[in-house]
Amino acid sequence: MRHSKNWAGNISWNPTEILLPSTEEEIQQLVLKAINSHKKIRMIGTGHSFTALCQTDDVLISLDNYQGLLSIDKSKCQATVKAGTKLNTLGELLFTEGMAMENLGDIDVQSIAGTISTGTHGTGKELGTISTQVVAMQFVNGKGELIECSVTKNPELFKVAQVSLGTLGVITSITLQCVPKYKLALLYKKEILDLVVNQIEDRNEINRNFEYYWLPYTNYAFTKSSNIVTDSEPDKSNVFNYYSEYVLENYVFKLFCEFAYLFPSKNEAISKLTASSFSDVKKVLQSHKIYATKRLIKFKEMEYNIPAAAFKEVWRDVTKMVNSKQFNIHFPLEVRFVKGDAIPLSPAYGRDSAYIACHVYAKKDSTKYFTALEAIFRSYEGRPHWGKLNTITADDISEMYPEFPTYLSHRKDQDPNQVFISPYLNQLLGIQK
Ligand SMILES: Cc1cc2nc3c(=O)[nH]c(=O)nc-3n(C[C@H](O)[C@H](O)[C@H](O)COP(=O)(O)OP(=O)(O)OC[C@H]3O[C@@H](n4cnc5c(N)ncnc54)[C@H](O)[C@@H]3O)c2cc1C
Repeated sequence: MRHSKNWAGNISWNPTEILLPSTEEEIQQLVLKAINSHKKIRMIGTGHSFTALCQTDDVLISLDNYQGLLSIDKSKCQATVKAGTKLNTLGELLFTEGMAMENLGDIDVQSIAGTISTGTHGTGKELGTISTQVVAMQFVNGKGELIECSVTKNPELFKVAQVSLGTLGVITSITLQCVPKYKLALLYKKEILDLVVNQIEDRNEINRNFEYYWLPYTNYAFTKSSNIVTDSEPDKSNVFNYYSEYVLENYVFKLFCEFAYLFPSKNEAISKLTASSFSDVKKVLQSHKIYATKRLIKFKEMEYNIPAAAFKEVWRDVTKMVNSKQFNIHFPLEVRFVKGDAIPLSPAYGRDSAYIACHVYAKKDSTKYFTALEAIFRSYEGRPHWGKLNTITADDISEMYPEFPTYLSHRKDQDPNQVFISPYLNQLLGIQK
């Protein structure tokens, strides 16, 4: 399934070959073989991107058979991992070594290579995207060479490789700067939206990780705040949490989605019903067990990064647009915050950022709704998440990313014959211009 379409099911592909190497040498040989037969290669992690990044009608490489820890440097709190390792497996492996990832996103099923390749992020105003946790990596480039780069070795190439959409080559290993394992206390709470937005700076200041969901047409925000507690704090997670987070958010919400899909005029009522069915959740667990939620309902998503400084203005325009009831939607919008970085293709490049994500049920057409919101985000210097739906072009990227030429020049050096460029990437990045 994953090798023929993405998680959301909105993008499909039909590779002539699906390759599952299990060693770094094998990865290199497969790339060399494809180059010699003039084939194109794309890589897939777990296919959780909504855009056509993994799409190919030629060779598809998956590192599902190349997972696990390669080495640990306890003195630096760093771990080198095989690039196909899934985040949930990685969390367990690091925990057994007394370590953890500094931050994670909303799910933990993606591969580490896929995660960093699109600039995947969690939330926390002092925490960067997951790509910023990488300190070194190796990849097999479009000439079949095994390239090493890090914060000290080939640093400019390394920065480009931290978010590269799988366009430099096949990432084989990744060294992560981890932190000592830690416990988080999570509070998931129903609050008044206007109050939360007015206090947004304070909420971000007092919480390590802060985000909220807003249900359209309501004045409720579902805030999610996490903070570190001592290791001696007892774990807290019960059947009631399971009911709220798993059963309500998946099975009950799925019924709401179907109903709203069949009866579009009922979207507002469904959104309000969803808000009223929500109850607070409190949990204390090791960090790798707390960030992620299970997402069983298929949806389509667009997410834009905007400058954190513009957040309140953008949010005002977004809520006005959504509340105008032009789009018959009931899926929540999600708001997160991320520290700026210096990675050329990172949406958080050069600015502390807010991210606003909008979703629709997978069966539903998202075009009009996403187009209207995208226009708002774009008017505030928004940059889309690379793995989520958007309509940007190479000209837009040139305007959004001052270091786009640096990326393009390294990309050309690493892959002069465009082995890793698909028609989608060619169009997106304007490679042949
Ligand atoms: C339900 C859901 C929840 C999500 N939650 C979040 C979230 O909280 N925060 C967030 O920022 N994003 C989120 N995303 C988006 C998701 O994290 C990204 O799209 C991510 O890139 C998916 O990882 P993957 O392993 O599935 O990679 P894929 O989607 O399979 O691939 C992504 C990119 O990585 C490349 N790639 C994969 N493996 C390699 C390799 N070995 N070498 C080089 N390139 C490679 C691919 O070619 C492609 O360009 C979510 C998506 C879904 C569907």
